[in-house]
Amino acid sequence: MRSKQSANARSCRNGSGPRRNARSLRCARNCMSNNSSGTAVLVRCRCVRDKRRDMLGRGLRNCARWALDFALPPRCAGCGVVVSDAHSFCADCWKRVEFLGQGGCATCGIPLRATDIDTCAACLAKPPRIARTRAAVAYDELSRSVAIRLKYGRKVAAAKTMARYMLPLVGEGGADRLLVPVPLHRTRLWWRGFNQSALVAHELAKGLDIDSDPFALIRVRRTPPLKGMTALQRRKAVAGAFRVRDKAAVAGKTIVLVDDVLTTGSTAEACARALKRAGAVRVELVTWARVVRPAQLMR
Ligand SMILES: [Zn+2]
Ligand SMILES: [Zn+2]
Repeated sequence: MRSKQSANARSCRNGSGPRRNARSLRCARNCMSNNSSGTAVLVRCRCVRDKRRDMLGRGLRNCARWALDFALPPRCAGCGVVVSDAHSFCADCWKRVEFLGQGGCATCGIPLRATDIDTCAACLAKPPRIARTRAAVAYDELSRSVAIRLKYGRKVAAAKTMARYMLPLVGEGGADRLLVPVPLHRTRLWWRGFNQSALVAHELAKGLDIDSDPFALIRVRRTPPLKGMTALQRRKAVAGAFRVRDKAAVAGKTIVLVDDVLTTGSTAEACARALKRAGAVRVELVTWARVVRPAQLMR
């Protein structure tokens, strides 16, 4: 029996590739069925082999990363110059980025500089459907260029840059949180090939280890471009444009809506309305950029 065990252990060491895995599984079964002491031999054999494989995998990954950095070095998300840190900004762009972060109104997140109040007058007068809104940066030429690079330039890496700065803004919560990107209408999705907000939500989900459901909300009708519209016109344009696909998927949950740019908030409000009607307990919103003064859009 001992010779059979040692033969099994030897065969563990000598195999290679997928066949080796299958063989080691057979080897494991044989050893365990023959004698319990064989398990120790087997475990030791597997541990050494796994460690070697891990080290080899790690080494190969490091080599690949080094080669990739050499061939395609990380570039500034704003101007494209080579930087040391991936998904970041160069020193010059860094000075231009206006980070909004956690400050501002506790509900809508609008900056409240030089005041000692927690909640802005608008939220006090009429609490919005979205319980908490946060944006990583103020909307300007630089933040717009990052969003446009993802949306129209198909630079998927921009989603990682956006998610990197949005990640700390997703509120604390339990396991009942669900990331839901603001959806595109199916025809626009077909033309563009991807939903930029879904890509950002995917990156956030990876970083936060919470679920993302890109199909929880559906845009049931095409909405006209909102640029140049007043807040009231925007609200009317998106009213009833969103529907929850499966109510059970959102009922009783805290939904964190994900969008690239927040202007007047009418689109997110329409999404929140549909989600609340479907039974969502709370709706929050996290975006990459935020138009701090919506009047800018009318110019
Ligand atoms: Zn730069
Ligand atoms: Zn507010």
